[in-house]
Amino acid sequence: MKTNQKIIDVIIVGGGLAGLTNAIHLSKFGIGVLVIEKNSYPKHKVCGEYVSNEVLPYLNYLGLDPFIFGAKKIDTFLLSTPKNKMIKTELPLGGFGISRFTLDYELYKLALSNGVVILQDSVINIQFSEDQFEITTKNEGVFKATIVIGAYGKRSAIDIKLDRNFIKNDAPFLAVKTHVTGVFPENVVALHNFKGGYCGLSKVEDDSINVCYITNFKSFKKYKNMEDFQENVLYQNPNLKEIFENSIDVFPKPLTISQISFADKSPVENHILMCGDTAGMIHPLCGNGMSMAIRSGQLASQLIISYFNGKIKSRLELEAIYKKSWNSEFKFRLKVGRIVASLFKKYNFSELMMSALKSFPKLLPFIIKQTHGKPIKINEF
Ligand SMILES: Cc1cc2nc3c(=O)[nH]c(=O)nc-3n(C[C@H](O)[C@H](O)[C@H](O)COP(=O)(O)OP(=O)(O)OC[C@H]3O[C@@H](n4cnc5c(N)ncnc54)[C@H](O)[C@@H]3O)c2cc1C
Repeated sequence: MKTNQKIIDVIIVGGGLAGLTNAIHLSKFGIGVLVIEKNSYPKHKVCGEYVSNEVLPYLNYLGLDPFIFGAKKIDTFLLSTPKNKMIKTELPLGGFGISRFTLDYELYKLALSNGVVILQDSVINIQFSEDQFEITTKNEGVFKATIVIGAYGKRSAIDIKLDRNFIKNDAPFLAVKTHVTGVFPENVVALHNFKGGYCGLSKVEDDSINVCYITNFKSFKKYKNMEDFQENVLYQNPNLKEIFENSIDVFPKPLTISQISFADKSPVENHILMCGDTAGMIHPLCGNGMSMAIRSGQLASQLIISYFNGKIKSRLELEAIYKKSWNSEFKFRLKVGRIVASLFKKYNFSELMMSALKSFPKLLPFIIKQTHGKPIKINEF
């Protein structure tokens, strides 16, 4: 197997939101970056495609304005239960709707224009010895790096190689996403609860509606196929029946992913700085994983820059500060996300929860605030 002898400053494993954010930020400061991404761009991904505004100033700083690509401004949140109890509230910060097809692709192009090298290949192993990393890829051999960022998403064979604890637990959720055309307000993100899961709806840049639902495998496997599950379970919520029956599919068939878990992970493993879902995944009910991926990319990049310019004196100091910053930024949000998701898991309890939310109108915006960050300030760059 070929070994590339050049030692690259930073290798980023995975070119999703966390990986590309890191790549753009580091390249702005003259740091040599190689991103290794197994898929080609552009590509649709399973995601609700609602991005919280907290990352907007930072995306602008990196050179990306999502509204140039048609992102929809979203300021209202709507929640419903199968018994059609409904609550609508203004989103404390608001957000925007943009497809991952466009968002990831535009970040990819920005990274390339900043001089980032992006290699399409799969990473199969990451080893650390003598203060240096060796990354083995499926096709292009071995690469050496000073720093490695793990940004390969929620779950990968790399996690098994690294013997990460979370990989030994069950990953019981699966998700389905499609785009449809139909009638839906542009400024709303809706979450419609059904027995065993929930379905999100919001518009994206080309005016189609993102329809994305998550459920547990146990509920799903009782039915013949996806259509059977949708008609028997999702349609119990009249809002979902309405949208499924009165819209036209844009995708030839929906995208699906499985093995989703929200178990605790560590943001540093075997000296690798983990970012985005690789460091921890928030329940999509809180609609904030993309912002967390982008913000964690910013955190890691700032510290790596300090390491290269000597302000952070050692690798161990870098790892300790990253771990501490990551935990203080995200640990509480993840905990609240888990609690909210577990409350909505119980069918009857979700109806009760809804009654409580309706009786205390300030409760819902309060919960949303606990799972979201504050807008990233310019002086934090
Ligand atoms: C059903 C569902 C709905 C969601 N809805 C929302 C929402 O509305 N709003 C929101 O903010 N968040 C949402 N999220 C969460 C959001 O999608 C994730 O948090 C976000 O994609 C994380 O970005 P990332 O960069 O960490 O990972 P990813 O975007 O998954 O990127 C990881 C990349 O690594 C690559 N990769 C993996 N393994 C390898 C390897 N071995 N070698 C090379 N490359 C590799 C993959 O191809 C991928 O491109 C949702 C998640 C789910 C499951």
